[in-house]
Amino acid sequence: MKEYVMALDQGTTSSRCILFDKKGNIRAKAQKEYTQHYPKPGWVEHDPKEIWSSQYAVMAEAMALLSEDETIASIGITNQRETAIVWEKETGQPVYNAIVWQCRRTAETIDRLKETEPELYNYIIEKTGLIPDAYFSASKIAWILDHVEGARERAQRGELLFGTVDTWLIYNLTKGKVHVTDYTNASRTMLFDIHTLTWDTRIAEYFKIPMQMLPQVKPSSFVYGYANLGALGEHIPIAGAAGDQQAALFGQCGFRKGDAKNTYGTGCFLLMNTGTEAVSSKSGLLTTIAASCDSPDNRSGDVEYALEGSVFVAGAAIQWLRDGIRLIENAPQTQQMCESVEDTKGVYLVPAFAGLGAPYWNPYARGMMVGMTSGCKREHFVRATLESIAYQTCDLLAAMEKDAGLSLTQVKVDGGASANDFLMQFQADILDSCVLRPKCIETTALGAAYLAGLAVGYWKDKQEIKENWQLAAEFSPCMEQPERQVRKKGWAKAVRAALFWAEDEE
Ligand code: ADP
Repeated sequence: MKEYVMALDQGTTSSRCILFDKKGNIRAKAQKEYTQHYPKPGWVEHDPKEIWSSQYAVMAEAMALLSEDETIASIGITNQRETAIVWEKETGQPVYNAIVWQCRRTAETIDRLKETEPELYNYIIEKTGLIPDAYFSASKIAWILDHVEGARERAQRGELLFGTVDTWLIYNLTKGKVHVTDYTNASRTMLFDIHTLTWDTRIAEYFKIPMQMLPQVKPSSFVYGYANLGALGEHIPIAGAAGDQQAALFGQCGFRKGDAKNTYGTGCFLLMNTGTEAVSSKSGLLTTIAASCDSPDNRSGDVEYALEGSVFVAGAAIQWLRDGIRLIENAPQTQQMCESVEDTKGVYLVPAFAGLGAPYWNPYARGMMVGMTSGCKREHFVRATLESIAYQTCDLLAAMEKDAGLSLTQVKVDGGASANDFLMQFQADILDSCVLRPKCIETTALGAAYLAGLAVGYWKDKQEIKENWQLAAEFSPCMEQPERQVRKKGWAKAVRAALFWAEDEE
């Protein structure tokens, strides 16, 4: 029998299933979009049953592509993080829709926490590594318990269970036998002490979340239980789970302290492995648990940590060029346009459309285009937009290097906009570091597969996995230092202008 590892990639807009072979090649793949519910402005929900049914459908579709002598060695899960689901222990029926990470309905709860409980606010930062926000699961669970009739009492009686999407999928895959999550997903709930690796009773009490509804927490590479899927197969080990960004870092073989990956999607997600030390940030970055497993680098089996930062507007700025101000027809065309001019002619765009995140943290900052002269053409605007993605990443990485006391020599990249050679070269130039783009850009699913395969011996160790990582393109810095400094100075000035614009609002 030929064996594969199955990755279930449960994303915000679609459920996917990818089967990988030993070399990390894709044997089969299926994807299904599912419904987004927007009951009110700023609210986002998913139907947990549709999450499960779409995931099951793509599993069946991918398995159908296998022949009779091919089978599945284990299943790994990677998922949209922070999204909260509450269901009945007895029946497996959700009591409410999944409240999605993007949903802002509990923003006021967090504002109140900040105003009335400053000491607890700081306690949460220290214990969970997160800056309290409606984005994380805790306030979403509390909302469900407050708004679904009888839910709070039922939870107290032990009749309801909470889970992030990994937990929900494992629960369904095991037909209700296993209620478990992994460290990386737990670390995004805002209820988990990332230092002691236990649920924090004080935070749970504040949100009135009964401890018995929280899942058991296990390593990311671990046999949680077995999937019994009838015609699709019986007794398949479910052996890996990690939140999407942590899975991507693992899929990029970011195993060692100082390894970093940046995903260029709608926004950018930058994660840097900080080894077994949980580095607390002085620049507003998040401290989170990285996916890890026993290895010669980490024999103790201790968990590993990462610093995480995000750029709110990255690929979204390119979409804005296309759909908003209609300077371009499609995203790939920007590469040629940018390369057709030597520079931006002194133009900078700060795409602070929704404020500025780390390391500036100013919600009132707004988009700014500065430095125009009459010689500016469309191409200069487009180039300034792409360059802004690289500058924002550079600011985040500088903050990470400072927090962690590490100096980076290379960054691995993935995500839609990493296909743009101009952007990647400019990124290398501005960072003064090499930018490495792998052949397999399905790094998130691959990370989940690796975690699941390692737990059952499909792959021997991380070294074997590293040999699978293949370079598609390497971008080395070729900008002279004085030029780099001039450009970065210009960017810093443009950011100051965007912050100055916000001054009266604070
Ligand atoms: P997400 O998972 O956030 O939807 P993807 O990883 O699919 O994002 O990437 C999509 C983003 O990448 C879009 O914002 C799009 O504008 C951008 N993008 C896709 N291809 C290119 C390209 N060749 N050059 C620049 N940007 C691109």
